[in-house]
Amino acid sequence: MEFSSARARLKQGRLAGDRRGVYPPSPQFYLGPPTENISLVEFESFAVDRLRLLKVVENLGVSYVKGSDTYKTKLEAELRKLKFPYKALAEDDYEARRKDHISHFILRLAYCQSEDLRRWFLQQEMDLLRYRFNELTGPLRQKFLEHVNLSFEAISEDLKNELANELYTSTPGFSMTKVKEQMYYKVGLADAVDLFRARRVFIKDGFAYVPLKEIDAIVLNNYRTKLSKALALTARSLPSVQSDERLQPLLNHLSHSYVGPDYSVQKNTGKISLDQIDALSVKSYPLCMRQLHKALRDNHHLRHGGRMQYGLFLKGIGLTLEQALEFWKKEFIRGKVDADKFDKGYAYSIRHNYGKEGKRTDYTPYSCMKIIMSNPPSQGDYHGCPFRHCDPDLLKQKLQSYKILPSGITQILELVKGMHYQLACQKYFELTHDVDDIGFSLNHPNQYFAESQKLLSGGRELKKELSSSGNSQQKNNSQESMNSNSTPTSSNTTADAELEGLEAYFTED
Ligand code: SF4
Repeated sequence: MEFSSARARLKQGRLAGDRRGVYPPSPQFYLGPPTENISLVEFESFAVDRLRLLKVVENLGVSYVKGSDTYKTKLEAELRKLKFPYKALAEDDYEARRKDHISHFILRLAYCQSEDLRRWFLQQEMDLLRYRFNELTGPLRQKFLEHVNLSFEAISEDLKNELANELYTSTPGFSMTKVKEQMYYKVGLADAVDLFRARRVFIKDGFAYVPLKEIDAIVLNNYRTKLSKALALTARSLPSVQSDERLQPLLNHLSHSYVGPDYSVQKNTGKISLDQIDALSVKSYPLCMRQLHKALRDNHHLRHGGRMQYGLFLKGIGLTLEQALEFWKKEFIRGKVDADKFDKGYAYSIRHNYGKEGKRTDYTPYSCMKIIMSNPPSQGDYHGCPFRHCDPDLLKQKLQSYKILPSGITQILELVKGMHYQLACQKYFELTHDVDDIGFSLNHPNQYFAESQKLLSGGRELKKELSSSGNSQQKNNSQESMNSNSTPTSSNTTADAELEGLEAYFTED
């Protein structure tokens, strides 16, 4: 027995040793895909953790100066927590390196599917690399550059002294002492285009003389080019991956769906009366739901996409099936739909949402990712995320009408311009609730509602939320959603797939 376990350990050790080279130390450019077999469970958990990490990267990048001490401390803490490599070029973190490598490639598959997804993924991966690269010390940096085939040649002290005046006048922000202290690299112009364009480097004989401090711009440029190409190539091979029925729902889920607490089971069920809804829509609804509620009240109708998005949100905040039927019916019959038509055409879909018809699936409210990434609204639709789908001028008008101060509107529009839609929504939360920092990472309209209620009621609703979760996983996830780094966690793949079927079934406007 002992003998066999010793042999097993030896074999395992040999395997790990063999694979060490397969997963290069961090940071890296992820040049070769992993080739080992992994389980679907590991596949999903790696991907979800990387998604969580990239969400934190995005959040920190907007909340703090990149590279500041707070930014670095918080990012390092997250890397440690999620068990990704946090120590540069360490040799003894095989498992962390493996996870880092594999998870990057899984998200490549999930995030190559559209321009929006590619752009978001690229930006976060670049920021992650920037942080990791800047953590390297001089010799490690050199080692990394060699590893990624960027073997820029450091110029000799003699040449540097000879060019000292030119280097000083061409490198903004550098004193002569700094020039003498810094290591300079001779870099081909093609690799230093951005610095050249911004007139930040000395050029001679077709080479840019780049100080060590600026070399990260070149590294990142290089990485961006490689990763963009890789994403485009991955997108081309997607059809063959999508034909794998095990992977396709997982990948779709990763890129379009939120997988944290699903807000489908609430102890609040029945605790909200229909009379409260108008007031709640002003106080505690995120902009997407506020827009839908207003459209419904104004037009006494919502098209299919709006009914799905708003109906499931209402279910998530606690409306019972009976209340939902009464709510929608009262509103619709004030418009062009009579009671009979409502019962025949619409009531079924509401009961379906509550799992009382068809496959009897208890459908979950839509997450921000799902709303932002799928089914964009067309003329006459009110669903979607206003931060993503509204024209900026229209969004500005909307925010003005909601009495957001001009400075706040400017901040929101800046975030929207940078495609940080959920962060724009967080800013909207801060401004409408008069708080400096919301202290959580927004991923779900129902999370917005729950956090708003918690804040407005001095924390009591939070307790209700936490204790209300219907199963242990949900409890854990709810807890996470209250933490500052809450992001997607696990999967509702089946429910999602079934929801697609439901959406196709109810196409009546
Ligand atoms: Fe709604 Fe999410 Fe967009 Fe906010 S970010 S408006 S909660 S979809």
